[in-house]
Amino acid sequence: MKTKLPNAAHVWKQVDDFVMPTLRLNAIDRAVYSHLLRHTRLEGRHRLRFTRAWLAKGMGFCGNTARSYLRRLVSRGAIRLIECNYEGNLVEVFLPDEIRARLPKSPHRPLLGKLPKPSPILRPAATTIDDLDFFTTPSLRSAIYARERHACFYCLRRLKKRAQCLDHVVAQMHSGGNSYRNLVACCVECNARKAHKPAADLLCRLFRERRLPAATLASRLRALEALSAGKLRPRLPKNALRLG
Ligand SMILES: [Zn+2]
Repeated sequence: MKTKLPNAAHVWKQVDDFVMPTLRLNAIDRAVYSHLLRHTRLEGRHRLRFTRAWLAKGMGFCGNTARSYLRRLVSRGAIRLIECNYEGNLVEVFLPDEIRARLPKSPHRPLLGKLPKPSPILRPAATTIDDLDFFTTPSLRSAIYARERHACFYCLRRLKKRAQCLDHVVAQMHSGGNSYRNLVACCVECNARKAHKPAADLLCRLFRERRLPAATLASRLRALEALSAGKLRPRLPKNALRLG
């Protein structure tokens, strides 16, 4: 649904006068943020789904560079990554005034840390494993891959680093969160086939296609139950409970 357009002149002044110095953005961060603003808020929408190739083409750099600058903007709180899967990235882009509103009110708020670490001022400190965001924090994503022993949770195929991803067992559009109880490592093919449907459906399809024997299907369904019950806890990196 489209919303009222913001005042573009006001937004651009705020980007220079507030967003850049406060979030310590460099010129490329600013260019990527402006590009995303132009295709979202200045067109009356908050969210945008796009591929890295689209962003790379629009900015004139390679896909890996596009991913790197997206992560920087997420870590700074200028955008929010809602979903990242086979179809691309779904992000929410914040206006400067919204970024300001998300910052702590205290005049003594701590300064931002060194990039690309997630900003401590934009996330509350995590005190238990259930508070941790395993989707957006790189070291915690790695913990999920390690828990699955770098194999696809669904088809058990060995994962190659460039073709692995994290899947929300309960899709984000169905309010699935970024907890270790809802994230599994999987191959790109299983991620695309499952999409927003129940994980058990994909497992049954793999069984019908004879890609999973009956005993393995039963064990994967049990693993799904164990996952949601919090019994598949990944090994946490050092100081993870301060990463939030
Ligand atoms: Zn798979």
